[in-house]
Amino acid sequence: MTVPRLSLSKLHFPITALGPGRRIGIWFQGCSIRCAGCMSRDTWSFSRAGEPVETVVARITPWLAEADGVTISGGEPFDQPEGLLALLAGLRQSFDGDVLAYSGYAFGVLEAAHGRALSLIDALISEPFVEALPTDRPIRGSANQRLHLLTALGAERFAGLDTARAGSLDLVSGADGSVWIAGVPRRGDLHRLSHILATRGIRLATSAGRMGGAS
Ligand code: SF4
Repeated sequence: MTVPRLSLSKLHFPITALGPGRRIGIWFQGCSIRCAGCMSRDTWSFSRAGEPVETVVARITPWLAEADGVTISGGEPFDQPEGLLALLAGLRQSFDGDVLAYSGYAFGVLEAAHGRALSLIDALISEPFVEALPTDRPIRGSANQRLHLLTALGAERFAGLDTARAGSLDLVSGADGSVWIAGVPRRGDLHRLSHILATRGIRLATSAGRMGGAS
């Protein structure tokens, strides 16, 4: 039997800008949707070697006791369906918090092809990022994107986010010395941040966990 593998861009804990509470962020590597204006273009390539899902679960296990939730983003998580399903199943065995997943696919497509994965997710943001449709709503990159509350826990944790206004981003210091941003910035936020940093002699490179994208 083939052991499911996952190609990931990043893992990080804690993240606070992609759902309620302190969350584990899991960013998949690879996206076939390629929305115009996506600011996570560094996650498009499928070229990185994957790792067994059980290794990924082992890497995040030390964080589970402290985490309120897990956010699965990308890249496009549903472009690695076997690995995604195995990851979700592994999380459900040992984690009581909520799971939020992003996808750039339409909800109908996900329902038709990935019902088992959806049954293991509490809240889902679906639909591709559309640059011409800005939004002030949190955790979404464009106004067409839909928040689906798939379980009672998802409704409890995420219903309030449907009416709140966006605003927070996480500035993350990576173990390799890199600094990057997690969250969905409002239109113009990165330009304003870049300008402020430039006045201090710092250049902002926009490679982030979830910038303007959908999945
Ligand atoms: S926004 Fe999401 S779905 Fe669209 S290209 Fe970027 S990573 Fe892929």
